[in-house]
Amino acid sequence: MTTAVDRSALMHTYRDPSVTFVKGSGTRLYDAAGKEYLDFVSGLAVTSLGHCHPAVADAVALQARTLEHVSNLYGNTLAPDVASTIDRLIGGGEERVGGQVFFSNSGAEAIECAIKLARRYSGGRGANVVSAFGGFHGRTLAALAATGQIEKHAGFEPMPAGFSHVPYDDVDALVDAVSGPGVIAVLLEPIQGEGGVVVPSSDYLRAARRICDESGALMIVDEVQTGFGRTGSWFAFQRLGLVPDVVTMAKALGNGFPVGACWAKAEVAAAFGPGDHGSTFGGQPLAMAAVRATLDVMERENVCERARVTGEYLRRSLLTLPGVKEVRGEGLLLAAVFNNPIAGVVAANAESAGVLVNPVRRDTLRLAPPLLVSNDDVDAAVGVIRGVLRSLP
Ligand SMILES: *Cc1c(COP(=O)(O)O)cnc(C)c1O
Repeated sequence: MTTAVDRSALMHTYRDPSVTFVKGSGTRLYDAAGKEYLDFVSGLAVTSLGHCHPAVADAVALQARTLEHVSNLYGNTLAPDVASTIDRLIGGGEERVGGQVFFSNSGAEAIECAIKLARRYSGGRGANVVSAFGGFHGRTLAALAATGQIEKHAGFEPMPAGFSHVPYDDVDALVDAVSGPGVIAVLLEPIQGEGGVVVPSSDYLRAARRICDESGALMIVDEVQTGFGRTGSWFAFQRLGLVPDVVTMAKALGNGFPVGACWAKAEVAAAFGPGDHGSTFGGQPLAMAAVRATLDVMERENVCERARVTGEYLRRSLLTLPGVKEVRGEGLLLAAVFNNPIAGVVAANAESAGVLVNPVRRDTLRLAPPLLVSNDDVDAAVGVIRGVLRSLP
């Protein structure tokens, strides 16, 4: 519904929204009129446990009454604990890998940390980071320079130096680029999320690992969107049987609390010493309480398995829709590709009918429901989309 909210004091970086939400619970969102929406966007792969998960809400509320914030000049009890959990999840969940974590407040900041770490680790051997066309790494200047959607650079030049791009899923192009002078790191998403849920061939990231091993470049995997069970494993790189040197994460990490993290192998992390990098808020108690509760529930609820099983159900359901020629993605990060550029109108009509999906490309709908979504909710969402497709002229 249209609301009387005056947005004139907000910078116009997003189009005027068609709906304004006032409340969320589980898979549901509510607007001011009380209309209910089934949320298959999840704040863009953020609220993986659903909206206002009680365990996360309680942990944040309790922490807000106990200790909200102290400077990183001092210690808090939560950040070291959460970092060791992340290090364990990087290894698949059983045992710690022995890497280290820097906490940030967003995905772009996690990327900034990874880039600075790679430069410091290189010891001046070079400064060039190779990433992929179509890739997305955030909107701060260095993250934007790494972002391979070049149209997003327009008007913001000069971009910081030290970034180049190669076609995604093209091993030869990566070999060529990395053999160039001064390349210190390769930065790739395991699945390009913002780029349209593009899944590379299963050998691409393994080849990237090999290329990095041979050249000495660091392999940075951007798991900001794919991490924490979204694709059916804690991190998407895990099903490929490789370990990156650096992993960036954010989105689902706090189930809606703004928080990011950059993990690195111990040897790489050791390139940072006191004073080299920092953040006022990164790792502060309130954020860490949200993360600790989120990861705790994720482990207890077996979200990886849930994402795999329900993801397969959603994939099969989407393939029954008229006009869908392909379903891409893994786990519960899926995209339905239509024969025609109708994704925008389908998403708009689905929204009117109470289902949120994201038209990530003109012909592609992205679906990223909460990982705890039921098959009944999947049936309801796909049913609405089917009705929308049937009613199109
Ligand atoms: C969303 C996203 C980012 C940027 O995260 P912000 O929190 O918006 O800064 C970076 N990388 C990937 C893969 C993303 O999907």
